[in-house]
Amino acid sequence: MSDYKKPLPKIQPYSQAFWDAAKSHQLVIQTCSDCDARIFFPRQQCPKCWSENLDWMKASGKGEIYAFSVTYEGVEQPFADDLPIILAWVDLEEGIRMQTNIVDCDPDDVSIGMQVEVTFQDVTDEISLPFFRPAK
Ligand SMILES: [Zn+2]
Repeated sequence: MSDYKKPLPKIQPYSQAFWDAAKSHQLVIQTCSDCDARIFFPRQQCPKCWSENLDWMKASGKGEIYAFSVTYEGVEQPFADDLPIILAWVDLEEGIRMQTNIVDCDPDDVSIGMQVEVTFQDVTDEISLPFFRPAK
């Protein structure tokens, strides 16, 4: 059992590979084998052509901040220790826009266009969550 108090993903058969990779600290992106679409978040069907012929590719884990906001107060109790929280949209090199938190970063230093890289936090024995931090 875990004492982790924040929400955890409900792993579905079609997202299992994403979370298995995250457990190994690897970011993967779902792809469509019929139309080559890159898909995020994981789904059962391609959102472009409705194919169920889906696969996975390794992502570089690198991207840049498209937009962000900083929260300094007013969050639910389990998140209070995380304040200030930087919520961001990150554009990955692979063409995926991912909503995430920016970690290991002073809110005064965050900016649109900032280069970031994925980092993983092992929050339970089963779940590792991807976040992003300033690229080194
Ligand atoms: Zn497709």
